[in-house]
Amino acid sequence: MKRLFRLIFIIITILLIILFSGKIKDNESKALAQSIDVYTLLSNYYYDNFINKEINNEKHIKEYNIAENKQEIIIRNYYLKIEEENEKLKNQNIKSTKNAYLTFDDGPSDKSTKEILEILDKYNVKATFFVLGSMAEKNPETLKFIHESGHSIGNHGYSHNYKYIYSGTEKFFSDIEKCESVLKSILGDDFYTKLLRFPGGSSGNRKLEIKNEALSRGYDVVDWNALNGDAEKSNPSREYLIKRFKETHKNKKNIIILMHDTNAKETTVEVLPYIIETLINEGYTLKVLDEK
Ligand SMILES: [Zn+2]
Repeated sequence: MKRLFRLIFIIITILLIILFSGKIKDNESKALAQSIDVYTLLSNYYYDNFINKEINNEKHIKEYNIAENKQEIIIRNYYLKIEEENEKLKNQNIKSTKNAYLTFDDGPSDKSTKEILEILDKYNVKATFFVLGSMAEKNPETLKFIHESGHSIGNHGYSHNYKYIYSGTEKFFSDIEKCESVLKSILGDDFYTKLLRFPGGSSGNRKLEIKNEALSRGYDVVDWNALNGDAEKSNPSREYLIKRFKETHKNKKNIIILMHDTNAKETTVEVLPYIIETLINEGYTLKVLDEK
């Protein structure tokens, strides 16, 4: 009997061990499954984040490229304009000498104009000022001073409000005529100019009809084929202006240089002596536009 009990005890023990070890295994695999879940979750999380990061990166790159393209288009437009103007000048057969026309838009201003005039005087050169009627009203004495100093004065309209002036041919010319009457009221009825510079330049299909009308009304529409880039960004550095001037006037015989006469354009005044000296050294004759 004792033996039988021992045998039963051993069998029960073996059975218990088998049962128990099975449970342990079960628990182990459950724990493993759980750990896999956590791992999968974590890796999914990181993977999702990685994908999001990649998407965001790509989005940024795309946005950057679009911005860069826009910048390029703006710059390319300038170059196209320059080429077009050079072609025109070639066709007009303007003398074989090198001529440079300094032009200043958007004045007269109460501070910059005087400084520009002093520099021009120092080098004994004359320039063309495309003035705004609204600015002439504010600074009539400065306008008189430009005129009396022998510089040329052109019409740049009254308001410089693109939205208004380019919304219709009649609106454009009423703005131009308003400027004309302001100029006459300050400089006298004898004052006369047919020099006209469209705000923002005259190129583009949108302005073609107005441009043709201007030509048929006897205006001399003047754009530019070189510039110092002072309107391309706010507060441009002296280095930037010099760089743009060098780039845009290179290898051209006749150049019309666009610059701006506003109090905000301090560096324009600062680099003007350099521009004049460079042009003189390169053999250009500096002229005013109505000498054509
Ligand atoms: Zn302007």
